Parts: sequence; structure tokens; C-alpha cells
Amino acid sequence: MLYESTRNSAVKIPSAQAIVKGISEEGGLFVPSSLPSISLSELEKMKELSYSKRAEIVFTKLLTDFSADEIAFCAKSAYGKNFNTAEVAKTVEVGDATILELWHGPTSAFKDMALQILPFLMTTSMKKTENSNEIIILTATSGDTGKAALEGFADVPGVRIAVFYPENGVSEIQKLQMATQSGSNVLVCAVTGNFDDCQTAVKKIFTDKNIAEKAKSEGKMFSSANSINLGRLVPQVVYYVSAYVDMVKNNALKLGEKINICVPTGNFGNILAAYYAKQMGVPVNKLICASNENKILTDFISTGVYDKNREFITTISPSMDILISSNLERLLYHLCGNDSEKIVEMYSKLNKTEKFLIDENVFMRLKEDFVAGYCDDKETKEQIKDTFDKYSYLCDTHTAVAVKVYNDYKTSTGDSTPTVIASTANPYKFSTAILSAFGETAENDFDAAKKLNGITKMPIPEKISELQSKQVRFADSRTPESLPEYVIENLLK
Ligand SMILES: *Cc1c(COP(=O)(O)O)cnc(C)c1O
Repeated sequence: MLYESTRNSAVKIPSAQAIVKGISEEGGLFVPSSLPSISLSELEKMKELSYSKRAEIVFTKLLTDFSADEIAFCAKSAYGKNFNTAEVAKTVEVGDATILELWHGPTSAFKDMALQILPFLMTTSMKKTENSNEIIILTATSGDTGKAALEGFADVPGVRIAVFYPENGVSEIQKLQMATQSGSNVLVCAVTGNFDDCQTAVKKIFTDKNIAEKAKSEGKMFSSANSINLGRLVPQVVYYVSAYVDMVKNNALKLGEKINICVPTGNFGNILAAYYAKQMGVPVNKLICASNENKILTDFISTGVYDKNREFITTISPSMDILISSNLERLLYHLCGNDSEKIVEMYSKLNKTEKFLIDENVFMRLKEDFVAGYCDDKETKEQIKDTFDKYSYLCDTHTAVAVKVYNDYKTSTGDSTPTVIASTANPYKFSTAILSAFGETAENDFDAAKKLNGITKMPIPEKISELQSKQVRFADSRTPESLPEYVIENLLK
């Protein structure tokens, strides 16, 4: 099975090469040329398997250039004791929905599901492609990817990693998680701008020919740990397969019965993985795309117009404060019938006019699978309080957006399909905002965490309480324009 570029369908490469490259030279993203399928009997057989064994089955289908031993090595190394629950991705019944907790990894966010395994996929891919360059991972983060990538890649031989985050766009705990990161191969820098500015600046470095030449002459090359990297996407398919299997196993579903999947969405990577799971044969009805007030995706899915000429709003669900959802390009490519010329045309329109409109037939296809909704900060807080009062379940600000959007969807459509809601972060990553949902204030995130623990009795992850006494190692801050220079100075000398 090969992966092709969304900006040039003629570029077709095996998965190991796609993982090493991160992004295609002409700026396209790698997508599967066609998707393999997974049968109901295969799902049935997975019931008794561990998460890492389930992952092996899915990887065998999607990473066909990897040997069985390579796949087993990667899956076993990633999905074991690093997670604080044996299930790795855990389903919990909350009211009439199934919450899929994806934050039991070392950094308390769903990004660990992919970033705990990406370093193994990447180093294995380097060996397979006989590439002996040193890899420099550049990562733009809205807060959670950065820490998860640092944690995954710290002290991995042959790799260096630099993370860029929006100076005023992350929570205090997120910032400290990154600034205190240990490891001799890591670098963290704040950027004076929002997440889109960070992401655009990093993408520019990837496609800058001079920087690439300079790196090459030093035996180095760039890659990405953002969800534009295929190695992020493939591991995310696994937990949707696994959640379905668990629901059948727990008698919440009959094998073959459909589910809806509701995902709090930013860069569109998580929900795209759910779409791939559906295309592969997991019985899925609707994919519900939940946004905060940066509701560009809600507008797009209801009108077919992607219009980024709007105000960027800073919310209490910062990992979803995004106006340029990178992975949407992958979905559009598939919906356009793998037509890269069409994608090039649409995205150059987006560059010039800040918007594009999709064709009617593409829009119809989009509507077959996707519905969307959004809520603001006030509604998010009300949902946190309401879910806790009713079910003694505390969800984080991002998950709460999805719960609210799911409830609205159910009320307006009457659709009673069993629904999985992706829960993307441990609430303690966003303690201050969550505490305010209970009408209380705190001096800082740590004080907020203590108070929240008093109200809810939910345990605070040790790695979060420890942060308070850790040494800050990184305090750099740069403008988006100066990032190329920063990278040359710090990583190419
Ligand atoms: C990254 C993130 C999201 C958004 O996921 P995408 O794959 O970018 O759509 C939502 N919630 C949390 C907590 C995140 O860290």
C-alpha cells in the first residue's frame, strides 16, 4: 500500500518514507491511495486482545512496508507501562454516551496516543529507508502536542526536537510542562503570535529550499511531529477500532451495530482518524465535529464555504483555537476523488482570498459522513458543571465542548445511535478554567488543581503536581518571522 501527496497524486511512496518526510516537498500531505478493510469477524476476534495487540492488527493493514517484527516492536514499546491504565484507551459510560478517555499517557492529553509511538515508528522508518541523517523534528503546538512530542522524543538517539508554542495561547500548566522538559536533544521556544502563526512559520521552514540544503550539507533533515505526519494519524485510527471492540465486549453494542463518534476538533487530525476507521469498515453512522467559538469547521460543514477571514478567539479550550485545520486538506482530497489539482486550486484560492467553496457533489459527500456544532466558553463551563452534578464525572474543557455539541445534536435530530465522545485531556491540565465552572477562583493553576480536587475528589496526576518544583530550562521567545533564523542558529550550527 502506498501513500500519495494531496498536492501531487503522482508522488506515491511507502509509509516509512512518508513518516520520515513528514510533509511532501511541494507542501502536500501524505494520504493512503486506498484504504484497507477490517471485517466484523476481525473486530470480534480483537475482543480478547490487549490494546497493543489490537494496534498491531491495524498497523499491519496500514503500514504494509513494515515487517511483523517491526510492528510488534513499535506497538509493544509504546503501549505498556507508560500509560496509567491497562486498557491504554479507556471507555467509560457517562449518561447515555460512551466517553473514550484518551489521556492516560505521560502528558495527560490524547496526543500521547500517537506521540508515544511516533519515535519508534520514525527511528524504525529511518533504518528501513537506510537514512543515516540526524532528524530535526520541528513542532508547532497549541499546547498539548508540544509536551507529548518532547516526552516521546527526549533523548532518542539520532533525533533532535524543537517545539514552538504561542506565548499567550497555552495554560500555565501546559507552559511549565514544556519549559521544564528534560533531555539533551530538546529545545522549546515561545512565539509572539497565535497557533496559526506558529504553524504557518514552521510549515514555511519545511518547504524552504535554502534551509533544507543547509541541513543536508550537515547530514541533517527536518521532519514533523504535528498531525500532518502520517505517523501521527495511523496510531489514532487504532483507538476508534479499539473503542468499538470494547463496546461490543461490554455488551453496549451488538457486533455490526453503528455508532456515532463526536470529536472536539482543532487541526482535524483526531476526527480524520475516525473517518478512516469508518472507511475501513468500523460501523459508524455520523462523525460529529465539535468546535469552540473558533467555529470555522462548523460553518464549513454546514455551508461548504471555508472562510478564514474572521477573528481568532482565545478560549478556555485552547487546543481547539485554530482557524487553519491542516488535516481537512486530507479529507477534501478523498472527497474530491484523489484529485490533487483540485486541492492545489482550492488552497491557492484560500491563500489569495482567504476562502474557498467546495463543489456541490463534494459537499453532498461531506454531509453523508459529517455533522458539526459548536459552543462558547459559557456553555462549556455549564456543561462541565452539569455533567459533574448529574454523573459525578469531571471532563476537561475540550471534552465538554464535545459533550455539549453531542447533546445539542441529539436534541435537534432525535438520533439515538450509541455515541462515543472522544475525551482529549485530563481536566487538571486546565484547572483554572474548570474550577471557574464551579464558581470558584484560584491564585494559579496549582492552587486551582487543589481546590478542584477538593470539590471532585478526582486524583491529580503526579506528573502535574510535580511541575511546581521543577526547574524551568527554556525561556526563549521569538517573533514568527524570526523562526527560520532561530532554527539555523540553534539547530544547524
Ligand atoms: C489537540 C487537541 C484537540 C484537537 O485535536 P485535533 O486532532 O487537532 O483536531 C482537542 N483537545 C485537546 C485536549 C487537544 O490536545
